Amino acid sequence: MGHMRIARFVVDGQDPVYGVVEGEEGAESLTQIVGDPFYQGIQPTGTVHRMEDVRLLAPVIPRSKVIGIGSNYADHAQEMGKESQRPSPLMFLKPNTSVAGPGDPITLPSFSEEVSFEAELAVVIGRICKDVPPERVPEVVFGYTVANDLTARDAQRTDGQWARAKGFDGACPLGPWIETELDPDDVRVTGELGDELRQDGQTSDMVFSVQEIVSFASSAFTLLPGDVILTGTPAGVGLLEEGDTFTAAVEGIGDLTNTFRR
Ligand code: MG
Repeated sequence: MGHMRIARFVVDGQDPVYGVVEGEEGAESLTQIVGDPFYQGIQPTGTVHRMEDVRLLAPVIPRSKVIGIGSNYADHAQEMGKESQRPSPLMFLKPNTSVAGPGDPITLPSFSEEVSFEAELAVVIGRICKDVPPERVPEVVFGYTVANDLTARDAQRTDGQWARAKGFDGACPLGPWIETELDPDDVRVTGELGDELRQDGQTSDMVFSVQEIVSFASSAFTLLPGDVILTGTPAGVGLLEEGDTFTAAVEGIGDLTNTFRR
């Protein structure tokens, strides 16, 4: 599959559909495709929509799981007071009910006073796989999107594990679309709170590479088409307040913006 941007969207309140994003920034159109790209491939229906006539949704709602990787940039591990040289990736799960879309307003959970943003590169799996050797990971990757791995720091500290802290409703914004061709080992990952640049990292600084992460995850879990793996966040994380706007961006993919409220 060549370079493509695959989006999921709604038109006029109808059921969500998938399409291929085409055209220059600011003048994009969406060529609708049949069904689900993970199971049915890319078959155009013949219908084309203008970007301004659709509402983009999270490009995938995983049927089974979002896997997260903690402390995968040494500078972020340091700012959190954690070990920056782990022997293997630290994995956690976010339920599919935590997924939100680009532009969605997200209600901060009532149990937390300390919800943090974490801009991240996200890997979208394209094939059923298990025990994938690192060198074969490109064969099982469908593409890449942008994630915000929202984390309730207070619950993370008190609970001893991260199900609530990272799994609450809305804790996993994804978007704006899936880019099928990307060099995941050297792209810029940024996070802007309002118009202030707060996170600015490069995936070449990840402790474990995308190939190592996907291989490692597949040694524990069967990965399914549409599963999402978050690759960790660079330094500069901070808290979200009522009324904030946060944009996570990955070079070569696009921007994921959400607003936050109580
Ligand atoms: Mg994270």
